[in-house]
Amino acid sequence: MLTKKKLLQWYIESGVDETIGEVPQNRYHSRQEQILLTKQIPPKPVQQEVYFQTAPVDNILSTAVRSSRQAKNLEELKKAMENFSGCSLKATAKNTVFGDGDSHPVVMFIGEAPGADEDKTGTPFVGVSGQLLDKMISAIGLSRTTGAYISNIIPWRPPGNRPPSSTEISLCLPFIQRHIELIQPKIIVCVGGISFSSLIGGTETITKARGKWFSFQSEELSAPIPVLPIFHPAFLLRSPIQKQKVWADLLTLSDKINELAES
Ligand code: URA
Repeated sequence: MLTKKKLLQWYIESGVDETIGEVPQNRYHSRQEQILLTKQIPPKPVQQEVYFQTAPVDNILSTAVRSSRQAKNLEELKKAMENFSGCSLKATAKNTVFGDGDSHPVVMFIGEAPGADEDKTGTPFVGVSGQLLDKMISAIGLSRTTGAYISNIIPWRPPGNRPPSSTEISLCLPFIQRHIELIQPKIIVCVGGISFSSLIGGTETITKARGKWFSFQSEELSAPIPVLPIFHPAFLLRSPIQKQKVWADLLTLSDKINELAES
């Protein structure tokens, strides 16, 4: 281990014979002038993002509800989200990741939150787990151009891909709820546990809930929308053995699509 004494010795042997402070000094000023200057320069204020700390969460939530309700179409909803500064995740994200795919879909897939690739491009599920999701979607005969639409509970990338907090989820929920109302899919697939618990609630884990039918209801919808939770593709990439369960869930989904098409 490098002791302080050894470090000092190493400094001396390397020719360091003067200690230099952390604050730059203008050596052309006299010592007296330097003291005066340090006193006159006020400390630089720390740049702070003034986001939701400035107002109670309830007020920000009301803003989220009001601005999402006012949106009459997808374009207006996207604008409302881009103009919403109540969620601190927006301050660190490069893009608002809104949605992608067929805007009159059979199935709306809802993930958790964008990762680095999605943040860079502004499009949901374009990284490795997105590529797996695309394969899962094509296994049931759909694609982003035909029958499938993709979005997330959270439209801004949490720094370092950390899980979103419950406050962040609550503040973003009115937007995805309005998104669903405007898209009006025949079926919703919750991709992963966070999507499922945020949209449906309850205490059931994704391991218990996957492959079972739930429903999403809102005053704006004429009928409840069936909801199927499935494992997140990122989880499948880490535990490929679970792919067989997703395959079974995709068959369940495919049966429901056929059933709805016949009714
Ligand atoms: N994971 C998600 O849940 N959503 C994305 O858009 C990308 C990765």
